[in-house]
Amino acid sequence: MTESSSPPAATAALRGLPSVDKLLLSLDAARLIADYGREAVIGAVRAALAAARDRVRAGETIDPDPAALLEQTAHQLRRQFAPSLRPVINATGVIIHTNLGRAPLSQAAQQALIDAATGYSTLEFDLETGKRGSRLVHAEAILRAITGAEAALVVNNNAAALVLILTALARDREVIISRGQLVEIGGGFRIPEVMAQSGARLVEVGTTNRTRAADFEGAITPNTAALLRAHASNFKQIGFVETVDLADMARIAHRNDLLAIDDLGSGALLDTAVYGLDHEPTVGESLAAGMDVICFSGDKLLGGPQAGIIVGRQPHLDVLKRHPLMRAIRADKLTIAALAATLDHYRRGDALTAIPVWRMITRPLADIAQHAAAWAAALDPLPVETLASESTVGGGSLPGATLPTVCLALRPPSPDAFLSALREQDRPIIARIERDAVLFDPRTILPGQEADLLAAIRSAWRSSAPIDLSSTGK
Ligand SMILES: *Cc1c(COP(=O)(O)O)cnc(C)c1O
Repeated sequence: MTESSSPPAATAALRGLPSVDKLLLSLDAARLIADYGREAVIGAVRAALAAARDRVRAGETIDPDPAALLEQTAHQLRRQFAPSLRPVINATGVIIHTNLGRAPLSQAAQQALIDAATGYSTLEFDLETGKRGSRLVHAEAILRAITGAEAALVVNNNAAALVLILTALARDREVIISRGQLVEIGGGFRIPEVMAQSGARLVEVGTTNRTRAADFEGAITPNTAALLRAHASNFKQIGFVETVDLADMARIAHRNDLLAIDDLGSGALLDTAVYGLDHEPTVGESLAAGMDVICFSGDKLLGGPQAGIIVGRQPHLDVLKRHPLMRAIRADKLTIAALAATLDHYRRGDALTAIPVWRMITRPLADIAQHAAAWAAALDPLPVETLASESTVGGGSLPGATLPTVCLALRPPSPDAFLSALREQDRPIIARIERDAVLFDPRTILPGQEADLLAAIRSAWRSSAPIDLSSTGK
């Protein structure tokens, strides 16, 4: 397509468009260049001009004003440079939401993370001797103090912890596990596949619903290294079910000179049953039962950053610390800083009030209901109501366990269109649909997010539900 093939009026309009160079010399362009860099601005200006030419050729009249073209350029650059990892408001009521980044950090953990990130630190430096130290000591001391374990170790995540444990302690040997625990945890993480990666040989015993102590005992051979318990996480069996008690498992292992390994998954440090939920196995129980090596996540019920935590008997953890794989999966300074600060809440005894996950779990229903009602009042004249519903813990812990809640509810003509409009806001809101209403659960809305939430609901309502409320007399 050349200009000579266009009708005369279009040719004149095309000539009226400013050149790339002229646009770049303007003050607005200088501002864009300061923000996005020269290369990107040139590219975006060229694209805006090419789009303008196409529209002229298609017979449209366009505004040849450089300011209008630069506005399009700026819009294009904003989209191009918008980060794909963005903060969102979690209105779903799922406390440990795996897709939304699991656990939000406590104030102290946020500060520790910033302190570690913005300067130098004692990551691997011993202030007393002035010599090289170990990054492993920072979280280990607190973990030992709060769990009573002999030793502790932190790696990148719990999947890495399990691979390290099996590789270092059971490679080329057999590990016995109950058939009922060969689960897929989510994101395609399958216990049998992880075990295969480690080079440990999986020996399945029992049936899907029932495994007895005799099943473990009968499967032990001279090449067995360990018995493994994997917490079924997001999966629950009810009915005709039998599992081997952890203490029995540890006894069988030790009687046969084997290791008892526990993949606890969520790794609760506090008892969820006290707060109206099902009981989630705790780290303390696993240690008390005599399990030798126990691993769990840092960002599930513990409420800290993504991390894999291993606690247990000193000699076994020493083997793990010296294994070459350890170097590949060690935690970075930001993780260590945020994790140590999170663990410190358990040591001080303020975990329930300081750690967001626990604050959400223990938040009184009356407080939640009061917030839902206040938002409903603030959103007048939108047709809002409050609705009793249920929050869940999520994150592969406490399957099926719910907490009573009261949500703000709206019934837009198209709930899906409304959800989508909520996701398009500057601070996207993630909500859910239940009984044809779009629900906003105050339980997972963090302090300080309310103004953004209400503004986003108003804006999304305007764009997705074009009903003129002022004419209804409301
Ligand atoms: C969540 C979970 C894992 C994986 O932990 P990440 O920290 O996500 O790597 C492993 N095992 C169990 C039982 C789990 O619940």
